[in-house]
Amino acid sequence: MNIEQFYPLVLQAGKVTIDSRKIAENDIFFAFSGENFNAATLAEKAIDDGALAVIVELPEFENRDKNIFYVPSTLEFLQQLAIYHRNKLSIPFIGLTGSNGKTTTKELIHAVLSEKFNVQYTYGNLNNHIGVPLTILSIKPEHEIAVIEMGANHQKEIELLCTIAQPDFGYITNFGKAHLEGFGGFEGVIKGKSELYDYLTSNQRTIIVNENDPIQIEKTQNYPSTITFGNEGSDYNFESFSEEHFVGLSYQNLKALSKLTGDYNFTNLCVAACFGLHFGIGFEKIKHAIEQYTPTNMRSQVVKKENKTLVLDTYNANPSSMTVSLNNFISFEGRKTIIIGDMLELGAESEKEHQNILKLAQDLNFDEIITVGKHFKAVNSSNLAFEDTSSLIEYLKQTPIQSENILLKGSRGIALEKVIDFI
Ligand code: ATP
Ligand code: MG
Repeated sequence: MNIEQFYPLVLQAGKVTIDSRKIAENDIFFAFSGENFNAATLAEKAIDDGALAVIVELPEFENRDKNIFYVPSTLEFLQQLAIYHRNKLSIPFIGLTGSNGKTTTKELIHAVLSEKFNVQYTYGNLNNHIGVPLTILSIKPEHEIAVIEMGANHQKEIELLCTIAQPDFGYITNFGKAHLEGFGGFEGVIKGKSELYDYLTSNQRTIIVNENDPIQIEKTQNYPSTITFGNEGSDYNFESFSEEHFVGLSYQNLKALSKLTGDYNFTNLCVAACFGLHFGIGFEKIKHAIEQYTPTNMRSQVVKKENKTLVLDTYNANPSSMTVSLNNFISFEGRKTIIIGDMLELGAESEKEHQNILKLAQDLNFDEIITVGKHFKAVNSSNLAFEDTSSLIEYLKQTPIQSENILLKGSRGIALEKVIDFI
């Protein structure tokens, strides 16, 4: 099947999806095979559900049904279709990558730009070689700006995602210790994330630069097309402040307090404000957007439960985000318990990194340190080192936490949010 011939269906379709549970009439469905289902069954289900078109890579479907299209690779067809669609769109595209803070930054940019524009953006965390094409294919004629989160855990992934999304503006949230295994250490992270800069510079696009980050400064030195923030000489300069547990930014004597906890969110706020100002949104409106945005996604979220304050940061964890999270939490008033879960995908560095975090937690002198997962257990001899969340839950049923403040942070695989009901 050829892209050009197929493309008119994209314009007619409700949506493009790979999720067989979400097929509605008039959708285009890409039938990927998975562990628990096969593409043939899914393709047939999609037709029954009224799909406009179904894409499969199974030759047995060739010429079987006028709505089923056989292609040699569903993934490649999806990506090529997204590129074709992208090339038809003339709205500004913003691309975001980095080790930590992509989703939060994306949500904030979306909130700010939505004060003036109809913005399409990555839903949830659909930031990979499938999610990025799906996001692009969800862009309709009424959209005025696109914000695309690009995730990676290997070299060359950001390069591919840039080829698909072709961002006009790009920002790297930070270079941190995440996915060290796949990237080949910290140098590998810098190289892999910088593929965004490679794309932007070779296509004369605009880079947003945090002038407090030496790596960003070095990598973008002498590049003419930048929007900078971070110090007095920058294009935009913001001051940070905090109230209660929340971080805010001020600009020309106006203050915007977010509902996010953690100083590290200051730069995320700055980027969103930069885009707002760049696209002609007054700071009053930016302030409104920042003050309204309430995280509900287990990232830097503060939840009050009876007389306790919970910080939910259970969406993900790696040494960088764990460090900033602990340093933030220590400033909370009152007794403090931390429940920290394993940081996955660290490869050879894993043991050392878990040791470092445990040591940091001990040095910060939290009232109680609870760890969950095998990696922490291997380096933590305390009786509060639990193998998994269920054993911690059993313990909590007998021994409720006394502290007023509790931090929950760990990798997705540890799913620490399961513990919340037992606090
Ligand atoms: P993922 O790789 O899972 O997509 P992400 O880059 O989208 O992650 P977020 O989900 O926004 O990141 O945030 C994850 C966690 O990273 C936050 O809960 C917080 O602990 C930490 N974090 C957020 N912003 C920053 C930042 N600018 N610098 C360092 N750490 C941050
Ligand atoms: Mg994300």
